[in-house]
Amino acid sequence: MEEIKNFGKVKSFWFFQAMAVIAAAGLAVFNFIYLRAENISAFFVSLAINILLVFILATGAWRLARLFSDFKKGRDSLDTETQKKSSEIQEFEKITRQLVRRDLELARANQRLAELDAAKSDFISIAAHQLRTPLTGIKWSYTALLDPKTGSLNEDQKKLLKNGFAAITNTVNLVNDLLNVTHLEEGKYEFTFERQSLLPIAKQAIAGLKLVADEKKITLFSKMPASGLPDINMDGEKMGLVLANIIDNAIKYTPVGGRIDFSISQERGLIKIVVQDSGIGIPKSQKGRLFTKFFRADNAVGVQTDGTGLGLYMVKKIIDRHNGKITVDSAEGKGSTFIITIPEQSAKKS
Ligand code: ADP
Repeated sequence: MEEIKNFGKVKSFWFFQAMAVIAAAGLAVFNFIYLRAENISAFFVSLAINILLVFILATGAWRLARLFSDFKKGRDSLDTETQKKSSEIQEFEKITRQLVRRDLELARANQRLAELDAAKSDFISIAAHQLRTPLTGIKWSYTALLDPKTGSLNEDQKKLLKNGFAAITNTVNLVNDLLNVTHLEEGKYEFTFERQSLLPIAKQAIAGLKLVADEKKITLFSKMPASGLPDINMDGEKMGLVLANIIDNAIKYTPVGGRIDFSISQERGLIKIVVQDSGIGIPKSQKGRLFTKFFRADNAVGVQTDGTGLGLYMVKKIIDRHNGKITVDSAEGKGSTFIITIPEQSAKKS
């Protein structure tokens, strides 16, 4: 914009200069006529032209002075602007260099973290592997000792053994969870899909946890279709783990004397599993993190001290692998309902 204005001024400068030259030429012509003709009116004409010439020259000079002053101002502000821009560019280059350096540092830190994570996973995997065999042995010994066929025990001994059995079962479960998660993250968690019914798997999961529920005086109702269920393509062992995990959680997070309703049904091309409990529920603000690794809700930590927060993470991964869905409806202090649906047709092949 400024350049256009200046260009206009330059043009008017040359215009005035041209006018001055024309006027000077005119003066000369009229002076000549006056001197020759000695005509008084020619003299006045010449005088008028002289005045006009002076006016034009003065205006031209004034315009020229203004033009130079504007030009100087423009050049000064351009210099200041250039300096400002160049220091901004320098600053920008400095920031870019810093960003590149940070980026490199971040990439290095990420690589280091990935290495540490891999080392940690290796360590957990090795430790869990080493622990699993002796722990399974100890658990087996407890089971054998608690079996009346092994010999009679007094009430105190029975109580001590039962406590030991519960503790060792928790530890074996923890070790198994850790192993499963490390296998999953290393891509070594293998699925074996085959067509089978979920019904016997569900019955086994219920039977396996009935005693635990009885001990807490929790009533465990189960509703299964009398006509059976269609075979679906699935990993039976992993689906057994899913059901055991959800029912076990319902027992763990339901106070003594509570109620759990388990049902399995077939609905519009889906196998639907519902586990409803009258337990502590899940705080609304924490529901979004339910299926993330190591998550334990605040209200759960006080109720059940031993927990890894790995069960639901694994459950979700297994359900995903079967193209299924898991949803939770829960109200803190009132209870939770876990709903799992597995499509009859679209379960992935191994
Ligand atoms: P863990 O039970 O070992 O803590 P999970 O992954 O099985 O780990 O569960 C994660 C968390 O989800 C639990 O710690 C608890 O806060 C919450 N949760 C799961 N099931 C229930 C349930 N039936 N009722 C209330 N909270 C539950």
